[in-house]
Amino acid sequence: MSGGFVLADDGLGRRRGGFPHLDAPGLVHAVTTRDGPDLGDEPSHHPAHAAPAGALAVALGLDGAAWAFQVHGDAVLHADAPGYAGPGDALWSDRPGLGVMARSADCPLVLVAGERPDGSAVWGVAHASWRSTVQRITVRLLAALAQSGADPARLRAGIAPSAGPCCYEVGEEVRDRALKELGPGAAAFFREREGALHFDLWAANRDQLREAGLRDGAIVTAGLCSLCRNDLFFSYRREGAAAGRYAAVIGAVRSGQVAG
Ligand SMILES: [Zn+2]
Repeated sequence: MSGGFVLADDGLGRRRGGFPHLDAPGLVHAVTTRDGPDLGDEPSHHPAHAAPAGALAVALGLDGAAWAFQVHGDAVLHADAPGYAGPGDALWSDRPGLGVMARSADCPLVLVAGERPDGSAVWGVAHASWRSTVQRITVRLLAALAQSGADPARLRAGIAPSAGPCCYEVGEEVRDRALKELGPGAAAFFREREGALHFDLWAANRDQLREAGLRDGAIVTAGLCSLCRNDLFFSYRREGAAAGRYAAVIGAVRSGQVAG
């Protein structure tokens, strides 16, 4: 399923994106654009992250947000306090008031929300770079949510804007690694055009969401490419190492709080 990603003014004149199908009572999320806040290119444990991350969380009605040092690996962390949570590429939480946040300039960020049979919410985010994708970071995040009691039939996911299959050119070694780690079916995620190899990270992560038990209708791909739409999103490939970082954050407000 494509589309279903909406850009709107955040009230401060900045465009901010969201997936309407993720909305549920008390649950809030956002994908920022290059309008800000810019999460910056400092290492994730740098204190400079605390202010923009905290401001973004509070703007959504959350008490705070937790984030990881994204290392292009396979570690899934449980967050139970705001701030730096350690090295990892996926974070989840079930603590009311706490958001989980990931940042990117080209890599897909996968937002996930769900509920347990008792109605309590669980939520998470994965930084699905190609290296983390071939290490099945999205499947691992969903497995952590399932282990926490989330009902697979009520899980929903949105794949945020990132380098798209139109532009995400990779070397042959990336396809080799994907085939080795994900199996021969991964060949379907690659296309050769005019002598260049392109990796469809959106399709690869949709596949992992389906493998984790999500229905097709519960999976929405924003379908916006950060290279084609560099006017909206930071792109490492377009702008280099000094590119800013956009963010995806998701959480549930404490009961009684009103989301902004
Ligand atoms: Zn593109």
